[in-house]
Amino acid sequence: MPNPLEDIIKNKIRTQGAITIADYMELCLGHPQYGYYMTRDPFGAKGDFVTAPEVSQMFGEMIGLWLADLWMKMGSPSEFILLECGPGRGTLMEDILRTTKGLAGFHQAKKLYLMEMSPTLKAIQKQKLDIYDPTWIDDLNALPASIPVFLVANEFLDALPIHQLVKTGQEWTERRIELKDDAFHFVYKPVDKKLKSCVPKKIWEAQTDGVFEASPILNQYIKSVDILLKKQNGVTLFVDYGHPETAMGDTLQTMCSHRFVNIFDTPGHSDITAHVDFENIAMQAWADELIVHGPTTQRSFLTGLGIDVRAQRLMASANDAQKDALRSGLNRLIDTEQMGNLFKVMALCPDPNLKLEGFDEGL
Ligand code: SAH
Repeated sequence: MPNPLEDIIKNKIRTQGAITIADYMELCLGHPQYGYYMTRDPFGAKGDFVTAPEVSQMFGEMIGLWLADLWMKMGSPSEFILLECGPGRGTLMEDILRTTKGLAGFHQAKKLYLMEMSPTLKAIQKQKLDIYDPTWIDDLNALPASIPVFLVANEFLDALPIHQLVKTGQEWTERRIELKDDAFHFVYKPVDKKLKSCVPKKIWEAQTDGVFEASPILNQYIKSVDILLKKQNGVTLFVDYGHPETAMGDTLQTMCSHRFVNIFDTPGHSDITAHVDFENIAMQAWADELIVHGPTTQRSFLTGLGIDVRAQRLMASANDAQKDALRSGLNRLIDTEQMGNLFKVMALCPDPNLKLEGFDEGL
């Protein structure tokens, strides 16, 4: 089958030479016409992968309670930004808003913002969330100034493009993509200065050979979040798969119909992600004088917030089929063999006295 995005990427390589993995990822996921997220709804059993809010309503309910608790602890501000980055189908936000409906003043105070690049997903979000009067933004700079920001993002950071640096002996190169006999293949080029500056000292000096992943785009996004939190107060919650400590490792993965595939197979038809380096986020947040909570595991966060109790309550009025669904949803979210350990939760805020629930257990 002809693949127009493949031709576009190949032409780019023909005219400008080897492209970075970040360039390739950006085109595969975000090309305005043929990018993976731009053209489809990838979630669910029939799609390519399932995310936590799609597994069970309890995920969003717990985050809704967590936000409600913080809003009250912050003195119930009469106006605040409720922002989700990468809202997918809008399920997480819908569950958050349903859960917080009963809390006097919360809904009146919230100004709902969604940062989403995909027109297809925006249309699905609109169907679900229109009653809450959302505003879509492309950039954090588009948010109103001076009111607190409550930001949530589930499986957003893993979609931000990464570069791969490869160390062999004392030498560092960047893995890039070239054409050989008209097929994509990896080549190794000198690392440019800007990218070099993303590699922490401990990795630069490490004795081990291998791959190190760096994302200037993610770093820039975190910097903007940090500035926003410092300036306007509030809190940010990131949930994603990743590692608590900066380390070497090739974590780039390409997924289609719930299976891993080769990154060069059918560009634009599969999801490309990388594991998130939570230590990198923490280091930047500390440098920006924020308080870092976690990372903790998704299991510890959700059980700390009482997801078991919520499951029991839902089961009390459920039929047998619903009970099974609740049980398997709960399991999938918190089981250590499933999403429980792989997924990590981290929160950032400027106020050292703010007590955040769900972070009592370290890793
Ligand atoms: N949070 C959702 C979806 C996760 S998939 C869930 O948990 O189900 C990643 C989401 O981020 C998609 O909505 C995708 O379109 C969006 N996205 C990826 N890169 C983006 C970018 N650079 N800017 C805005 N949205 C982006």
